[in-house]
This record gives sequence, C-alpha cells and structure tokens, in this order.
Amino acid sequence: MLAMRFDNDSSLPMFEPEAEALPAEELSALQIRRLRELIDKLLAANGLQATRLRDAGVAAGADVGLDDLPRLPTTAKQDLWDNYPFGLLAVPRDQVVAVHGSSGTGGRPTIVAYSKGDIALWSRMCARALAAAGAGPGTIVHNAYGYGLFTGGLGIHQGAIALGATVVPVSGGMTARQVTLIADLQPQILTCTPSYAIRLGEALAEAGLTKQNGLSLQAGVFGAEPWTQEMRSRLNELLGITALDIYGLSEVIGPGVASECIVAADGLHVNEDHFLVEALGPVTGEPVPEGTPGELTFTTVTKEALPLLRYRTGDIAALRSDPCPCGRTLVRMSKVMGRKDDMLVIRGVNVYPSEIERVLLGEPAVAPDYLLVVDERGGGRDLIACCERRTGRTADSPSDDQIRGALEHDLRETLGLRVAVAIVPRGAVPRTELGKAIRVRRWSGGEPPVPGLDV
Ligand SMILES: [Zn+2]
Repeated sequence: MLAMRFDNDSSLPMFEPEAEALPAEELSALQIRRLRELIDKLLAANGLQATRLRDAGVAAGADVGLDDLPRLPTTAKQDLWDNYPFGLLAVPRDQVVAVHGSSGTGGRPTIVAYSKGDIALWSRMCARALAAAGAGPGTIVHNAYGYGLFTGGLGIHQGAIALGATVVPVSGGMTARQVTLIADLQPQILTCTPSYAIRLGEALAEAGLTKQNGLSLQAGVFGAEPWTQEMRSRLNELLGITALDIYGLSEVIGPGVASECIVAADGLHVNEDHFLVEALGPVTGEPVPEGTPGELTFTTVTKEALPLLRYRTGDIAALRSDPCPCGRTLVRMSKVMGRKDDMLVIRGVNVYPSEIERVLLGEPAVAPDYLLVVDERGGGRDLIACCERRTGRTADSPSDDQIRGALEHDLRETLGLRVAVAIVPRGAVPRTELGKAIRVRRWSGGEPPVPGLDV
C-alpha cells in the first residue's frame, strides 16, 4: 500500500512549493514582470486586446504596474463569441494543440485554444489541486468528470499524471459501473461535480459500500458548479471524506485556477502566480474591499494561445489574504456564491440559488438534492423550493408539515423573502447523471416541472 497523506497535517507536500508558498514581495515582483510580458505580447499580436490597450493609453508593458490593473481594459465571454472560433489567438494557428470549451447556455459554444505550453501549465495547476487534497505519487484518483470539450475530465486527468498519481478515467454517467470500480480499485480521491458526488454517494450506500464497510475514499475534489458549506457537510457525511472545492473555467485554463487545501478546507487558493485575480463590483466594475463579494476577474499572465486581460467571469466570490495553516501564501477565494446572471429577482428581492441551498440543507430532515421552481403561472414570479425527505425516517422524525413550516420560516428570516416549500416524493427531484445539476426551472404553465409538486 502506497503511503497516503491524509492526516490533515500542515507538512503535506505542495506540488510546487517554490511558487505556492512564495513570500508576498517576491510574488508581487513575479506578477508585475509577467503582467508586463503579457501586455507586450498582446500588443504584438495586434488584435482586439491590443486595440483596447492602445485606446487606454498603454503602448508598452513597461507603462504599467500592478496598481494599474484596475485601469486596464477588460474582456468578457461576448468577446470570445464575437471572435469565434480562433479570432483571439496570440500564436499562429498551427501552435494550437487542443481546443476545449463549453456548450454554453442556449447551446452557444465557447471555444478556447491551448498551446503545448498551455496544456503543460494546466496539468501543473491540476497537479497542485490534487496535491492540496492530499494526493501524491501512487494515489488512486477516480475521475468522474466528463471527458470531452468540457475541461473537467481531461484537466484532472492530466494533472493526476503530472503528479504521478494513478488516474481512473471513468468519466461521467453509468453509475453502477462506477460503484464497481470504486469497490474494486479502492481509490482515495473522487473527482466530479458535487451533484454527481451526491448521486454516486447514494448509489454506493445502496450497494452497502460505506466508510464503516470498506469505502476507501478519503477526499473529494468537487467543482464545475457552485456549492455551499452545507453541501460540504452532506458530502463529508455521505462519503466519509473531506470534500474540497476546485474552481476554474475554460476561458482561464479549466479546473485548477483555484483549489482548496485539505489542511484548512476553508477557501480556494488562487494560483495567482499565473492568474491575477480581482473581485469587482458587478455594477460598478471597480475593485471591492477584501471580504466583499464581487465578480471574479482573471488576467492570464502566462498563457500562450489565448491570453486574456481582465476576463470578467460572471462568478461572484470574495477574496481574503489572511495566512492559511497549510503554508500557501496564495490569496484565497470564497466558494462561488452564484453567477451574476443566475441571480433570481423574486418580487424585487435579489437572491442567489446558493443562498437558498444554505437554508434548505441546514435542515437535517431534507435530502441534498433540491430544485427551485420559479412559478410564473399567475403572471408574477414566486419561488417554490422543492425538496425530498431524507431516507431513514423514524417515529420521532418531524412531519412534512413541520419541515415545510420550519424551512419557510428560516427562508423568510434569512432572505427576507417568502418562498413556498414543497416536500416532493423521493426521486422526484431530477438527479444528475452527467455534468452540472439543474437547480432552477421556470414554470409558466402546463404540467409541474417536478412530479408530485402540488401547489
Ligand atoms: Zn491552505
């Protein structure tokens, strides 16, 4: 048995300690040098970003310091769409060795190009994330992220190989086969979306495989959709692991932009030697104070094929720079609270699905899958939170009415918003077999979007 390093001890090896634990002044010096190189490269490529830089009065990298970052022009997903597929390349087309991307909302694809150097960088970032979860050479990584255009599967795959771990490229779906592989290969690390981890955890429990009964998993690296502390508690309990968050998006590099350490499991270390991070007021576009939620904005200072200056992600999170017991000096971001465009406006109140998740999963009698239904049938917008009961009900468990009453009260107290709660039959909330969970559906008429929803 290969040595595992899961004892929550702060001497856990980092994959690149020379970068991950760099003293602040040295990190700043590295960042400014790389930012200037990026600006020179963008100017030389003479594309959209060069035009924007010149319009902002920047004629050379030497013109800027780190403090000037908030004055530099931004980029956004619209720029990728407008220049689809290869219009923003900063290298000749034949230096592109892979493309990734997302199917995007409404089926509109985003395509991002990678050079050999970009793939190597991405692999190292994912190796950092796996090492931060306690993995090392020989650790078995059960990788249930989807393989394909989506960056989750291949990102973790390449990272595991770079680390010298043993990757099981099972991809998403075919849950029964995944249960068998976990039972047979005894992986220590599970990587997938948090919603699929719930699905898989339920299937493992149904197959009688639990922590008390030989389940080998010790940590999970879960990303590609926002999830809460309450979801962490559920995942830890269901799988007997330490659930860790990983963040990334194909426009920046893919997973591995930031990840949590198992030592603290309290915020994601941003690999800011490669990705300069800002949190901006979603409306003002100005940097917000540390600890205040803002729109994550990244500058990819070392990417080759598709470097982006101040890419506005639409993801909302807060940054903090207090020291972490793991010894990494990299700034930490909070869990993503939601996407700027996922914000629901219900009777004039702004609310993110994650805020509702926090309240729902705070109720122990409720199962971790849920669906929010925006009820537009009457011409207005009301919100119905559909939940299932947990299995293992006993005689002194609360009744459906008691659960509903308690949750409606807590939602009103926490969010200042009246949310109807519906307890639906077990299995009625859609489960994720592949990719990301659907947490919100609109209901403008006809059959209810959840079977058994009776309001
Ligand atoms: Zn840490």
